[in-house]
Amino acid sequence: MNFIVFDLEWNTATPGKNQVAGYRRKLFAEITEIGACRLDQRGNHLDELFLTVKPKIFKHLNPYIANVTRQNMTELKELGEPFPEAIRQFMAWISGPAVFCSWSDSDFKPLQENLEFYEIVAPLPNRCIDVQYLFHRLVDQGHRQRSLVHAVDFFSIAKERSFHNAVDDAYYTGRVLEKLLEVAETKDINLETLLHKFSWNPNLEYSHKESLPFERSPKAIPAKLSGQAVICPACRRELIPKGQIGWKKKKKHYVATAICPEHGQVTGRVSYGRLNGVVPELHFSYWLKKYDQ
Ligand SMILES: [Zn+2]
Repeated sequence: MNFIVFDLEWNTATPGKNQVAGYRRKLFAEITEIGACRLDQRGNHLDELFLTVKPKIFKHLNPYIANVTRQNMTELKELGEPFPEAIRQFMAWISGPAVFCSWSDSDFKPLQENLEFYEIVAPLPNRCIDVQYLFHRLVDQGHRQRSLVHAVDFFSIAKERSFHNAVDDAYYTGRVLEKLLEVAETKDINLETLLHKFSWNPNLEYSHKESLPFERSPKAIPAKLSGQAVICPACRRELIPKGQIGWKKKKKHYVATAICPEHGQVTGRVSYGRLNGVVPELHFSYWLKKYDQ
């Protein structure tokens, strides 16, 4: 088993340009770079991959993104691979069992969105590590979302490469992961425990929302919620709320928790009001707990 640390850069519609409405509805972020590093189980850097993707949807770089990533549209158009070919090369390069790792979980949505847009079936590994979360849990508990630069500075990792390029960010994320594996060892956390406690599954839905018309007075909500199930976002099982009271009032909301036998703890929250329609509604939100503790 190796770690595949990856990073993506992507482009979005530029306000006033790229008015390809049909595409925009289907694709919010078009991937333009795929960068990845392969690490062994101790976090040693083995090799790396860098692919640029030829843009198909958005023909202009969003100025904000261009400013951060320093990407060049002419180069992407001339040198980039079409996305299906780039993802084929990426998957072929991974070869063998791997744990995906990334800095934050924000690259997964664009990845899944681009795969769906091109109708490519490429199942993602069930166990992925969010290195930003691991950094928060193992060493810096003060702030949930530190920047990659912060973690690089924290471990005094030499800044010998640039930032905000997919393969360079993947490289630095890999170096931070290497340090975190050393920290885990000092805390007697072995690899299996680390994966059990700190990995998540990008193939699962972690949240789910639905609404019900509710034209009665808010005072009638507790009666309505009595016996109301909590829905698991991942499998849509109807779960019985924990405790004798079930749905409890908490400020302006009602909350309940339940346990899905397959996916673990789910929290439900209900609010009352008009969100879109004229008829008052009960808005149900459900969250699956992402990590084991
Ligand atoms: Zn479930």
